[in-house]
Amino acid sequence: LEAQFAQSQKMQAVGQLAGGVAHDFNNLLTAIIGFSDLLLLKHKPGDPSFSELMQIKQNANRAAGLTRQLLAFSRRQTLRPQTLELPLIVDDLTVLLKRMIGEKNVLSVEHGRNIWPVRADVVQLEQVIINLVVNARDAMPNGGSITIRTSNVERSEAERLTFEGMVPADYVLIDVQDTGTGMSQDVLEKIFEPFFTTKELGKGTGLGLSTVYGIVKQTEGYIYPVSVLGIGTTFKIFLPRHVQVASELAAKTAIAAPVRD
Ligand code: ADP
Repeated sequence: LEAQFAQSQKMQAVGQLAGGVAHDFNNLLTAIIGFSDLLLLKHKPGDPSFSELMQIKQNANRAAGLTRQLLAFSRRQTLRPQTLELPLIVDDLTVLLKRMIGEKNVLSVEHGRNIWPVRADVVQLEQVIINLVVNARDAMPNGGSITIRTSNVERSEAERLTFEGMVPADYVLIDVQDTGTGMSQDVLEKIFEPFFTTKELGKGTGLGLSTVYGIVKQTEGYIYPVSVLGIGTTFKIFLPRHVQVASELAAKTAIAAPVRD
């Protein structure tokens, strides 16, 4: 619990810091990029200073990219929680996901039957899935397979699960599994920390999984990585089953068959 508290405090601090600084930073970077452009105009591609200037410009561009991500991360999005069917959300994303993982990776999707609804923000859930799939792709430099599964986990089953801190209840489980490098214990312990990354400079921000973690917590769910070095990783996300109240069901029925007074 203490670790979770420290984590959420850290996230808040990062959010405030990012919101305040990223904006000003972006303006400064815009100036750096602008002036490099001006100087580049005064040099020819063969000049010795040309490639150095290009370096300055490229790296300033990279920094601007990071700043934008930081801004997106800190921005308080207006949340629109809705009653959602996870399988539909996954299915709607598959074309995009396939394009993102490229041809050397295979994406499979397996849905359980009659998956319960959950209550969440669509954009956030999409962000979670995309982030996990992108990480899975990055963990498979030589290609491999990614499997997304949805299933219902009944309370009695949740009681038997050994995931730390999980309150027994009905959950909808979404698994994102890869056949990638897997993670060492050392890495596993840090993955949800903002800015923790093992990716080379410019490739990773270390904000993906901390964003995912924040979203899952906001949705009152749980996220657990299961990872074996050399075999692969599965991220398991448990979201609370949303039990539709009478009025919600009535609204649905009303659309299907209007009731006369
Ligand atoms: P980033 O992707 O920018 O590095 P993340 O927060 O998304 O930031 O991930 C943090 C780190 O967790 C990654 O750098 C990587 O070391 C590790 N990681 C995340 N997902 C996986 C995965 N599916 N397989 C192996 N390592 C992973």
